Amino acid sequence: MNRFVWLAALLFQGSTAAAFSGAPKSDTVQVGFGAADITPAVGKKPVYIAGFGKNRQATGVHDPLWARAVVLRHENTKIALVAVDLVGLFLQEVEKARAKLPGFTYVLVSSTHNHEGPDTLGLWGPSAFQSGIDPDYMKQVEKGIVDAVQSADKSAQPREARLGVAKDPDLLHDGREPIVKHDDLVALRFLDKGKTAGLVVQWNCHPETLSSKNTLLSADYVDATVKYLKEKYECPVVYLTGTVGGLMTSLHVPVKNDKGELLKDGTFEKTERFGRLVGQLADKAMDAAQPIRLTPIVVRTRPLFLPIDNKGYQLFWKLGVLERQSYVWTGDPDRAEPNKDKDFDAKRMCIRTELGYLKLGELEIAAIPGEIYPELVLGKVPDPAEKNADFPDAPVEPSIYGQLEAKHRMLIGLANDEIGYILSKRQWDEKAPYGYGRKTAPYGEINSLGPETAPLLCNAFRDLVKKK
Ligand SMILES: [Zn+2]
Repeated sequence: MNRFVWLAALLFQGSTAAAFSGAPKSDTVQVGFGAADITPAVGKKPVYIAGFGKNRQATGVHDPLWARAVVLRHENTKIALVAVDLVGLFLQEVEKARAKLPGFTYVLVSSTHNHEGPDTLGLWGPSAFQSGIDPDYMKQVEKGIVDAVQSADKSAQPREARLGVAKDPDLLHDGREPIVKHDDLVALRFLDKGKTAGLVVQWNCHPETLSSKNTLLSADYVDATVKYLKEKYECPVVYLTGTVGGLMTSLHVPVKNDKGELLKDGTFEKTERFGRLVGQLADKAMDAAQPIRLTPIVVRTRPLFLPIDNKGYQLFWKLGVLERQSYVWTGDPDRAEPNKDKDFDAKRMCIRTELGYLKLGELEIAAIPGEIYPELVLGKVPDPAEKNADFPDAPVEPSIYGQLEAKHRMLIGLANDEIGYILSKRQWDEKAPYGYGRKTAPYGEINSLGPETAPLLCNAFRDLVKKK
């Protein structure tokens, strides 16, 4: 960018609205940050904590839950990336928030997949037959998303950007063979005359360090990561969750205190320490960061219908525990009609979700609506397949990162939806004998729509990037 244009962009700072509609011709991206507290009230109504067993009722708050947003504007394009400290949100909830945010080209809402916050999907209520969702709380979340985005929009200013990546396989535990970790942490640093004005950090791990017995609401280690970075860089921070299938977790990761003692899972001490370690990995990424151009901004999304073959999900759906519109599967992921007569048994059902692809100048972003396995992202699906898996002859899906050609890339998981695990069809393994010499079925399939999810989703993503 030449100096004159940069000056012109600075002159426009006084009125962000004018800067936006006046659209100064430059490479400079305008960036703003905003946040809203979305902690539920504890004590009035039961708050069911999501992520492990049912009926885990909150007894208090350890640290608040947040909706954190970054808005990026360039010429006539304006997008928001929002992270919420929740287990997941269905597409319908994201669409409600979008409807209140006119003027945006795209609003992405990703859940961190926090396992220590309230139930927002319905699966963790008092019993198997009752949802754990409080509809009033869902309205609070919607308002928090809208407030965070609007305040980020208001504060947008021209910013220089830097991007860095750091790796640490020791900060992740992979609970299922093949052992493939997505251990890239991506940090985007926005600068205002050399001073850090905001950070976006993306890492790939289940926030579940506090485990299944904790009854204090918390954002898990994400709280400690954000606190560490906010204090160090004195700026707002948006933490985004990426690839978490397969299963990328903080549980079982050996973390020691200053005395060299191993800290136990399920403790605040380990959670805080782990969060700080992730923050320090972000430091490393920023030390290695290079200037990056984030314009022009291109966004492509597509609706995607996916068959729901999981018997448990079908049952929860019928019971009304899982509340979302069902569609009749036609064999075509591009189109399906709503299942109006609510006949769940006669036909194969599907859901409507959404895939996203963003190109911000030299950075490409995959927006994936669930928990994708690292193998599918990094192109590491075993070939040949394990012979004892259920579909060893299923073709290897086109990998997510294999489609991306820009200098830098990032994946945002649980983006605009939570459809569960997305695992390669040739690794699907419900029936004995099992792969890798396992005596029992591996964990994952029980929380996936079915074996067709990955082939349909990965092919659709490839077509979306190639603009087919
Ligand atoms: Zn999960």
